[in-house]
Amino acid sequence: ETIGQNLSRTVAEYGDREAMVEVASGRRWTYAEFGADVDEFARGLMARGIAKGDRVGIWAPNCAEWTITQYATAAIGAILVNLNPAYRTHELAYALNQSGVKLLISATEFKTSEYRKMVEEVRPDCAALEDVVYIGTPDWAAVVEASGDVTAEQLAERAEQLSFDDAINIQYTSGTTGFPKGATLSHHNILNNGYFVTETIAFGPDDRLCIPVPFYHCFGMVMANLGCTTHGACMVIPAPAFDPAATLKAVQDERCTGLYGVPTMFIAELGLADFASYDLTSLRTGVMAGSPCPVEVMKRCVADMHMAEVAICYGMTETSPVSTQTRRDDDLDRRTSTVGRVMPHVEVKLLDPATGLVVPRGEPGELCTRGYSVMLGYWDEAEKTAEAIDQARWMHTGDLAVMRDDGYVNIVGRIKDLVIRGGENVYPREIEEFLYTHPDIADVQVIGVPDEKYGEELCAWIKLKDGAEPLDAAKIKEFADGKLARFKLPRYVLLVDDFPMTVTGKIRKVEMREKSLALLG
Ligand code: ATP
Ligand code: MG
Repeated sequence: ETIGQNLSRTVAEYGDREAMVEVASGRRWTYAEFGADVDEFARGLMARGIAKGDRVGIWAPNCAEWTITQYATAAIGAILVNLNPAYRTHELAYALNQSGVKLLISATEFKTSEYRKMVEEVRPDCAALEDVVYIGTPDWAAVVEASGDVTAEQLAERAEQLSFDDAINIQYTSGTTGFPKGATLSHHNILNNGYFVTETIAFGPDDRLCIPVPFYHCFGMVMANLGCTTHGACMVIPAPAFDPAATLKAVQDERCTGLYGVPTMFIAELGLADFASYDLTSLRTGVMAGSPCPVEVMKRCVADMHMAEVAICYGMTETSPVSTQTRRDDDLDRRTSTVGRVMPHVEVKLLDPATGLVVPRGEPGELCTRGYSVMLGYWDEAEKTAEAIDQARWMHTGDLAVMRDDGYVNIVGRIKDLVIRGGENVYPREIEEFLYTHPDIADVQVIGVPDEKYGEELCAWIKLKDGAEPLDAAKIKEFADGKLARFKLPRYVLLVDDFPMTVTGKIRKVEMREKSLALLG
């Protein structure tokens, strides 16, 4: 089915239940109200001349209008182009032109981001861009008003012309390893993924889910939003952009049963000075993805956030996104040392990057995946698509993983982050996990930097806990003595306050490598 058909079913079944709460404004929607607003905006977009396949961009922090746009564009078969709110004019113009956005829905401003000013600046350079609708201005109301020119029958006729295989979404990847690529996704891709992720966690119409992850990213728009609407659960939007205090307050005030986040978000929430003052007793489930979760963080989620279950998902934008996920009855070991097992209707195999042959269980190989979840391709980049998806439709993820005997998958890093020191493969993740056990270390990332003698040397970026004594390579060596092989000891230690991050909360190791060179001289 299409996303429109799926939402209609949820509206019919759970019409009087709450669909969405925007905490910042106090606005609330039941599913009946949400469905009506989506229909109205969809008709308004049709009245503005949006045809099937036209690209509609959205550039805004999390807000109710984002979600309404998401479902309204799907209802009329337009292709929603998710634009990262952290973009600036250069990236904005690139993405608008690369995907050929015809109508842009944009925020006016948020904190230091002057969206409207930036849009007007790039507008003359975007030939395809005909129309801009600013959220929170009379522009939005004008679209709603124009809906009067399109009847419910016309909307239904449009819906009849849509196929679940149509492209309806272009999501640019996080840009962790390079320039973002526009993954093009269909109803079938993302609707099924949102459905299965939530089905596996067993969220239902009684669940209220706190969504601090950005909507522009697949974590927000698919795993959270589509996860909720396929199951009649309520989407709680704690704040326009991630704010740990606002997130915990929303969980408390809205009695949320679930909380989404990348591990760094949970770390920030657990690290709040007034953490203990929030009543989080309503929480039962956490959903984590995007990067590895340190064992200590997981333990604190269970102990201090009352989470009976923390679901761990692994995936990428190109695969809608989730490919593996933990299961409800998994123990702490499976949740902390693996990213779960393969999702329903998805295939996974691990290949030796050197030979292209399937590796034996227990040995690292590049994770490749196939199934409904694999994107249609990168928008207008046939060459990059062919590099990523092979003839037999396997998506090559660039991630190194190990499959255990029990079928659970362990991500050991990205091929690009693997450090080869003096001929030995070193997986930064292993060293990071070890260093986390140091009592003075709050957060740590390990990367490889070029070295004349060994090819690469290890460099640890360390955030110290408040009041801790400074650490250096010699002290780390002392701590690791007898516990870690010598070739895994970091040669360099940099004490930092922050790591370079993408807006989705991922560490940009590429940037760290460049900066390390400068910092180390
Ligand atoms: P780009 O492709 O532009 O470099 P990106 O790969 O970070 O950026 P995303 O699609 O947002 O963009 O992220 C997918 C990647 O995130 C995966 O390929 C994997 O490396 C990492 N990842 C996702 N989930 C997990 C997880 N649970 N554990 C470890 N790594 C994860
Ligand atoms: Mg990627």
